[in-house]
Amino acid sequence: MHLRMRTMIALAALLAAGCAALPAQNNARLFQPGKIRALILSGRNNHEWRITTPYLRKLLVDSGRFDVRVTEEPTGMTSATLAAYDVVVSDYCGPRWGETAEKALVDFVKSGKGLVIVHAADYSFGVMPVLGDHMTSAGFTEPPWTEYGDMVGAVWTPGPPRTGHGRRHIFKVKFTVPDHPIGKGLEQGFYANDELYFGFGMRPGAKVIGTAFNAKEMNGSGKDEPILWTVDYGKGRVFHTALGHDLMALMEEGFKVTFSRGSEWAATGNVTLPATWPKEAPNADAVRVLVVTGGHAHDPSFYSLFEGYPEMAVTVDPHPFAYTRKGLTKKYDVLVLYDLIQEIPEDQKQALREFVESGKGLVVLHHAIADFNNWEWWWKEVVGVHYMVAPMGDQPRSLYKLNQEVFVQQVGTHPILQGVGPLHMIEETYKQVWVSPTNTILMKTEHPYAEGPMAWVSAYEKSRVFATMMGHDHLVHTNPGYRRLVRNAILWTAGRPTK
Ligand SMILES: [Zn+2]
Ligand SMILES: [Zn+2]
Repeated sequence: MHLRMRTMIALAALLAAGCAALPAQNNARLFQPGKIRALILSGRNNHEWRITTPYLRKLLVDSGRFDVRVTEEPTGMTSATLAAYDVVVSDYCGPRWGETAEKALVDFVKSGKGLVIVHAADYSFGVMPVLGDHMTSAGFTEPPWTEYGDMVGAVWTPGPPRTGHGRRHIFKVKFTVPDHPIGKGLEQGFYANDELYFGFGMRPGAKVIGTAFNAKEMNGSGKDEPILWTVDYGKGRVFHTALGHDLMALMEEGFKVTFSRGSEWAATGNVTLPATWPKEAPNADAVRVLVVTGGHAHDPSFYSLFEGYPEMAVTVDPHPFAYTRKGLTKKYDVLVLYDLIQEIPEDQKQALREFVESGKGLVVLHHAIADFNNWEWWWKEVVGVHYMVAPMGDQPRSLYKLNQEVFVQQVGTHPILQGVGPLHMIEETYKQVWVSPTNTILMKTEHPYAEGPMAWVSAYEKSRVFATMMGHDHLVHTNPGYRRLVRNAILWTAGRPTK
């Protein structure tokens, strides 16, 4: 063989070897630094895995301790694909994976990594042929994977006693190993709203750390049953929870805490996560927002515009109560108007005037640009728009048209436009509307049945004021660009960054 060709072949072989070795190393670098790297196995289950798996992932992510990936085809697992991970969580119940994937998982755990088994993942793999009628997969014609049972500490058995569960109910789980890190601070136990499995075929390696009494009146066994246990397998650790039947079961605080802590323990051998789950609440310094509705019907999707933002603490109050609230200026940072009203008493006008003269934020959405037609200072100086609900002098009334296909473009740059992009929506358009020439226009459309300006910041100086023609119904409320626009407007009018 020609020397040069041999060199090239050797080089090609070297490159191929290099490529084969690369994924595991590269994968590790593609995770968030400092986080535990978790892989959830899913894709088959006699439970609703399409609902439970995303929620299990959310729990691990929300705990702040994990960076998480999910596979719905565990059959493809190899030692190389698992190498980057610290812990594997199984939400899988179905057919066997074949020798390569099964060996990869066993080797992974034996090498010192973690494994977490959730609920039905403990009767996988033909360990109990009698359950075939319960399963839709063909898995139960396969020979059982006995090593799996040893690794996870228990399997379902045909008995006696036969493994099973009674009626789903609310019961208390008690820790039986008081100093175990997963249960620290949970000495009083916790409630589960779940199926309570009984009659497990426990394997010698299982160390039970939590049990629950399985009441006969719930068709249970009348005994304390193992619920949580651990297994030391090779150099690795396995945490098993028999809990987790459905979303309601997963949403129990005790499940959240023990699952996330158990996953941390399986991955590292330690627990740093607290014994209580952080409450989903606005941040301590959240922008205080009062949303005013009333006077105009709207889709309930409107309220979803304010969901999922810890940087906002939102209250909804329809007029006239909103405008009669004592201490409006003291209690709120931003008023969001989505109401339609013409006349309000002088004291309510005074409250609104005081609010916008005090350096607060005002966000006016869609039909609320037609508020207070006869209060010239409000529409001319503050909001910079006059949608006339009736003809005024020689000016005809403003017009609206439903179900228009609109293309809305950004004009220039502004913090409110951060991440918004052009909008393409089916929207109600407004025409014959006076828009103040002193506004800073942020978005516009060329639509023939629209005025042109679609969103702006007014020239009013005492407070930051944003208004938009957009926001008619769910087609707009659910548009990610519109959602971003409203969120940014609230933050910007409150003087906060929008990034
Ligand atoms: Zn179940
Ligand atoms: Zn509308």
